[in-house]
Amino acid sequence: MRYSQAFIKTFKETPRQATSINQTLLERGSYIYQVGSGIFAFLPLGYRVYDKIRKIIVEELEKIGCQEVFLPILHPAELWKKTGRLNEIGNELLKVSSSEKDEFVLAMTHEEVITPLAKSKITSYADLPLILNQISKKIRNEARPRGGLIRLKEFNMQDAYSFHATAEQLDQTFNDFVTAYLKIFERLQLKTIIVEASSGIMGGSGSKEFMLINEAGEDKVLICPQCGKAFNFEVAPKDRKCPQDGEVLNEKKAIELAHIFKLGSKYADSFDLKFVDKDGQSKPVLMGCYGIGLDRLMASIVEAHHDEKGIIWPEEASPYQVILIDLTNGKAEKFYQKMMAAGLEVLYDDRDVSAGIKFADADLLGISYRAVVSEKTGDEIEVKKRDQEKSSLITLDKFIDQLRK
Ligand SMILES: [Zn+2]
Repeated sequence: MRYSQAFIKTFKETPRQATSINQTLLERGSYIYQVGSGIFAFLPLGYRVYDKIRKIIVEELEKIGCQEVFLPILHPAELWKKTGRLNEIGNELLKVSSSEKDEFVLAMTHEEVITPLAKSKITSYADLPLILNQISKKIRNEARPRGGLIRLKEFNMQDAYSFHATAEQLDQTFNDFVTAYLKIFERLQLKTIIVEASSGIMGGSGSKEFMLINEAGEDKVLICPQCGKAFNFEVAPKDRKCPQDGEVLNEKKAIELAHIFKLGSKYADSFDLKFVDKDGQSKPVLMGCYGIGLDRLMASIVEAHHDEKGIIWPEEASPYQVILIDLTNGKAEKFYQKMMAAGLEVLYDDRDVSAGIKFADADLLGISYRAVVSEKTGDEIEVKKRDQEKSSLITLDKFIDQLRK
């Protein structure tokens, strides 16, 4: 992509409406556009990052047997009456209607759709276990959206639902999700801790949260300085001491990146979802659900990886692999063509602006590698990683090899 043609207009000032680092840097870098309170659009750069995050999630979840579906966000209110959540949840659940008969709920979560859907196919123990995953919009009528992309009214979420014949099957899948989620966060260079949590509106028998310790977080966790065991505030011991070693727990701010639940038979009971077991008996299907907010994940990467100049994307989330900067009169063109031919994702800064502006924008955008072509670089390029100070002169072939690894 040529920068001169790209839909990118950066700016230096902190946006007036921004209350967080992620919103400031993502807006300044032309990644996002604020449509309203808690409502954002992804611009081309932001959508590229979103798409990369999405692919990492799908890849890791396919490894544990998830199959992808795509569910509607407009739900007949009738379905939400069956679980009782139509009235239980309150104002956060957005309802729309055109007449008395035509009442709908905008998806805040998808148990009310996925459970009857599963019921239409599951009949026997041989159909289980089953894990269906989706990445789609969620609507939550948040009274006070805040933190940039951290707490939104409309957001993109990965939510998977698992169906089981036995508690052991459910435990196995629950543990598989722990492994897969940790792998996803590791690839995005986010060090998370897992805390026991309360199940809230989801109900069920057990849940865990994946927390990123970060000042931008609005959640709090209590961590034992001795053994590292962590607790969500709601389930922490009353005396704030670690049950294992008696140490006083430290309070830290954190961002909740993911939440997983053992739902048990709660939703199966509401929709009469049963299967015939090996012994010929009809039994309720056990369920689990597992979710990651993608917008919040993107925001968290920015909160965890930035400096005073801008964003520092982990390589796997970077919108392009390399930003190629031309400080000559078009000498970089042949390097750009070769990079494109080699299949690299390149943003080529071919603009007629000063070197200072090009370097400042490269730092703000945070693309993992910067490659400079100047009158001094000869047949080579000067490469610098965004998170390092030192640059080095290398041949294009060597650089391409390095990125392919
Ligand atoms: Zn401890």
